[in-house]
Amino acid sequence: MLAAVMEEIGKPLVVKNMPDPELTPDGVIIKVEANGICRSDWHLWQGHFDWVGLKMQLPHIFGHELSGVIIEVGKNVKNFKKDDRVVVPVSGGDGVCEMCRRGHQNLCDHGQTPGVAYWGGFGQYVHVPSADFNLALIPDNVDFIEASAIGCRFATAFHGVLDRAKVQGGEWVVVTGCGGVGLSAIQISAAVGANVIAVDIDDKKLEFAKQCGAVAAINSKKQNVPEAVREITKGGAHVSIDALGITATAQSSVLSLRKRGRHLQLGMTSDKEQGFIAYPADLIVATELEIVGSYGSPSYRYADMLEMVDKGIFQPKKLVTQTINVHEVSSVLEAMTNFETTGLTILNKWEQSFITA
Ligand SMILES: [Zn+2]
Ligand SMILES: [Zn+2]
Repeated sequence: MLAAVMEEIGKPLVVKNMPDPELTPDGVIIKVEANGICRSDWHLWQGHFDWVGLKMQLPHIFGHELSGVIIEVGKNVKNFKKDDRVVVPVSGGDGVCEMCRRGHQNLCDHGQTPGVAYWGGFGQYVHVPSADFNLALIPDNVDFIEASAIGCRFATAFHGVLDRAKVQGGEWVVVTGCGGVGLSAIQISAAVGANVIAVDIDDKKLEFAKQCGAVAAINSKKQNVPEAVREITKGGAHVSIDALGITATAQSSVLSLRKRGRHLQLGMTSDKEQGFIAYPADLIVATELEIVGSYGSPSYRYADMLEMVDKGIFQPKKLVTQTINVHEVSSVLEAMTNFETTGLTILNKWEQSFITA
C-alpha cells in the first residue's frame, strides 16, 4: 500500500510502498477514504509527548482522523461487516479495562489511538483492532470527508465543551486558539446557544472563526485578552477554553473568567512547558473557579455526533479548507510549525506517481 511514512523524527515524511496490514480475529481492515491532518500528528512528528511516556517506533505511519470502507472482517467481529462505511474514533480502547467498562474509553488503560498505537490513515489501508468496540457507522447522508473531519479535533471539542465544561445556551464562552480544535469548539458552543468570543494572534483565523459562529473576536497581539473579555461580557466569561496549550493562552483564559467560571484545558503543551503550566491559584480559590481537563472522546459519543451532523446541527465540513494528495501531507505538517494552516486539511487522494523513495 502507498503511505506517507515517518522514517526520522522531524524529517520530511517519505511517500513509499509499505506492507499491507494483516487481519486479526478481532479486527477489520479499512480502505481509507479520508484522513485529517491534526496538530497531534505535528506534535508526534516533532518527538513531543515523551514527557507523558509516548515514543514512536520507526518507521511509523500517522493518521488518526480516518474514515473509510471495511474490506476485510475478522472472524470474531459481530457488529460490523464488509462494505460498511465507518469512522474510527480517535480514543480507541481495549473494551475490557475499568475505564472502558465505565464508558470512558478515551481514558483506556491500553489506549488504541489509530496512527499512534498502530499504523494509521496516512496509509491506504488500516487494521483496526478490537473492531466491535472501536468503530462507528457513518449515516448515508454524511460523506467520508465530513466523517473524517469529526475524527479527533471535532470529537475532542465535542466531549470537552458538552460533557466536561457543560457549556449551556446563553453562556459566554471564550475560545483561545483558532486551529482545528478551537474552531470546532466555537462551532459546537455556538450550536448549543452560547455566545462565543474567539481569541487568536492571526486576523485571518479570527475572520474564519466568525464564520464558524463566534460573535466577537480578539487579537491577543493587539488587545489585553482578560480586559477585552470583561468588557464584552460585562464581568468575564462563564467558560474559558484553551485550545492551544501554552502558558500565555492558558493563563489569559483563566484570567478571563467571571466568578465561579469553568476553565477547560483542551490543548496539550509543547517543548517549552513540557506538561507544566502555572495557574493563578489565589484567584481560583477566591472566585471558586473550576479547572477541567478533557481528552479525546469516548467512542460511543460518535453515534451522537454523527446524528447531529446528519441533521445539520453540526457542520464539520465547514471547517475543511483543503483536500490533499498523499505527497502533500509532509508540507502540511511543516506549515503547522509556524501555524500557517487554517481550518482542517484532509488527505483523500492517493497516486502511485507521487512515490518519493
Ligand atoms: Zn480499556
Ligand atoms: Zn488529533
